[in-house]
Amino acid sequence: MSDTIRNMTFRASILTLYPEMFPGPLGLSLAGEGLRKGLWSLDTHQIREHGIGRHRNVDDNPAGGGAGMVLRCDVLAAAIDAAVPAEDTRPRLLMSPRGRPLQQAMVRDWAVGPGVVIVCGRFEGVDERVIEGRGLTEISIGDYILSGGEMAALTLLDACVRLIPGVMGKVASGEDESFENGLLEYPHYTRPREWEGRGLPEALLSGDHARIAKWRRAEAERITRERRPDLLKAHGQG
Ligand code: SAH
Repeated sequence: MSDTIRNMTFRASILTLYPEMFPGPLGLSLAGEGLRKGLWSLDTHQIREHGIGRHRNVDDNPAGGGAGMVLRCDVLAAAIDAAVPAEDTRPRLLMSPRGRPLQQAMVRDWAVGPGVVIVCGRFEGVDERVIEGRGLTEISIGDYILSGGEMAALTLLDACVRLIPGVMGKVASGEDESFENGLLEYPHYTRPREWEGRGLPEALLSGDHARIAKWRRAEAERITRERRPDLLKAHGQG
């Protein structure tokens, strides 16, 4: 897609208790250059500004007892309402280990849209009522527990931003990548031609493009079968 038919810039709005964590690593390398060039934009919103009382409290004890603290629904809703106008059509995501696992197809959809609003949880999580009350979609970056949603948000954003036209150098890179065609990627090689007694696969030296493509496809299938048979099943190839 060219910049001219793309009539909006991808914009990320982040609600967090740690706005200093952004853009963080996304301020460097190609994502950072894209940010400086205005190919995408980022705004952060401090949830604590909507905290309660002199101490701006944002969390409280879990109803029903138990360990840890829970982010208050009223505080989070006030932060969301202040940061995101009701007519804003961007998906409102809540980083959460209970969420739908993040996948490349979701990233691709978001990357061509107007952007995303991301709420970063902390403590034991957020009061359940705000999830429904503000239409948040829970997204997980994997089956493990982080201390907060910020790194998960950075991960999600990195995946989106690299797909924005102009951010990555070559448009072609990306098309054959893992997950794009239901397969993990084939192995890569570069110089030197021989290293510690290891040579290069013969097909890659043949100069025969059809043979190279066939070899890559076969390797991608072999690796996917060995490591992620679930992907083959999901694409009806299993
Ligand atoms: N008690 C919760 C975990 C809270 S971790 C539970 O057992 O489900 C604190 C915050 O970190 C969460 O609110 C969420 O925003 C973020 N987080 C932790 N692990 C995550 C993951 N795998 N994916 C996305 N966000 C995560």
